[in-house]
Amino acid sequence: MDSIFEHMERYDHEHVFICQDRSLNFKAIIAIHDTTLGPATGGCRMWRYENEMAAIEDALRLSRGMSYKYAAAGVNLGGGKAVIIDDPRRKDREPIFRLLGRFINRLGGKYITGEDVGTTLKDMEYIRMETEHVVTLPTYLGGAGDIAPMTAFGVIRAMMACCNRIYGSDDIDGKTVAVQGLGAVGHNIVEQLHELGARLVVTDIDREKVEAVVSKYDVQRAAPEAIYDVNSDIFCPCALGGIINDETLNRLQCRIICGSANNQLKKERHGQLLEDKGLLYAPDYIANAGGTIYDTDRLGTGAVNHERGREKVSRIYENLKRVFEIADRDNIPTFQAADRMAEERIRKVAEVKKYADG
Ligand code: NAD
Repeated sequence: MDSIFEHMERYDHEHVFICQDRSLNFKAIIAIHDTTLGPATGGCRMWRYENEMAAIEDALRLSRGMSYKYAAAGVNLGGGKAVIIDDPRRKDREPIFRLLGRFINRLGGKYITGEDVGTTLKDMEYIRMETEHVVTLPTYLGGAGDIAPMTAFGVIRAMMACCNRIYGSDDIDGKTVAVQGLGAVGHNIVEQLHELGARLVVTDIDREKVEAVVSKYDVQRAAPEAIYDVNSDIFCPCALGGIINDETLNRLQCRIICGSANNQLKKERHGQLLEDKGLLYAPDYIANAGGTIYDTDRLGTGAVNHERGREKVSRIYENLKRVFEIADRDNIPTFQAADRMAEERIRKVAEVKKYADG
């Protein structure tokens, strides 16, 4: 990225805030993409970036992703993201996260933060000491706690919509699902799919995680590299991004790709190539929105309500069906249809908001 303004103009970002404190060796960026639907919301990432521009670019890219995620999920929040430029293993965390909380508080609710790569629920507790504008919190502080089970539930609702399109029924019973990654989301997916009667083939680079799952459920294991070659109905990526690429595309032996991993398509053209091969792709940010839908449900109402949150997550099924309708209507791949669905919602709500209160 050469120019911040050029990048902001291209994707129509609203604000970038750059924060520093010399004595605490603190450097952070808060990017706000679009607040048409509501306050900009999105987690705080802590990462060692190659340089400042890489950090700003990441904050801009991720904040835009959040606008699309909330818009497509029917949630009334805008897109934002914070990044702290630092080693995610940094030890003295309290002053760093309290200071970020102070900066967030200055924005008066225009930006709401949460957990992301390199940050933990404990870090969110520090932020909460300085501002109320933080959503991901442990249950004892009024938050939803661990959201991975709801992310997993949302992915399974997306799988049902995919099965309906390919096989004419939502039924997961008897379907073979190849699960890549048995971390927070993956192991919950295995647990829930097992209850639904799916046949499971699992993998992880962490052997202990594989052993834990294999010893608990009646599942087959595959070597990490072999997961792309498994003959399955559904390939469920729950580990890394970029796994749909030139190398893996010709190996996949499934009908459906539906998982929690972010940025599954290495390049956009891989979304088109999947379509050309006749594979159904559930766009990642539609399928993996469950955790954040559940987590943010309490905003505006103040309290976590499990039934209401779960019901909202379950609507991922209908959201994905709408994506398929748009794909058919406009004759475009599903990943483009998801973007179009999000953009249409933001545009229509902006129309509504033109009318000021009487
Ligand atoms: P996690 O770190 O708990 O689990 C990831 C797992 O993938 C780990 O067990 C790791 O060993 C394994 N892994 C890494 N490389 C692998 C490889 N090459 N082959 C097989 N396994 C490999 O992360 P998570 O919270 O379960 O998230 C999984 C994915 O879903 C990530 O891409 C994350 O960004 C995305 N996501 C998570 C949530 C959530 O609620 N946690 C929400 C939305 C999206």
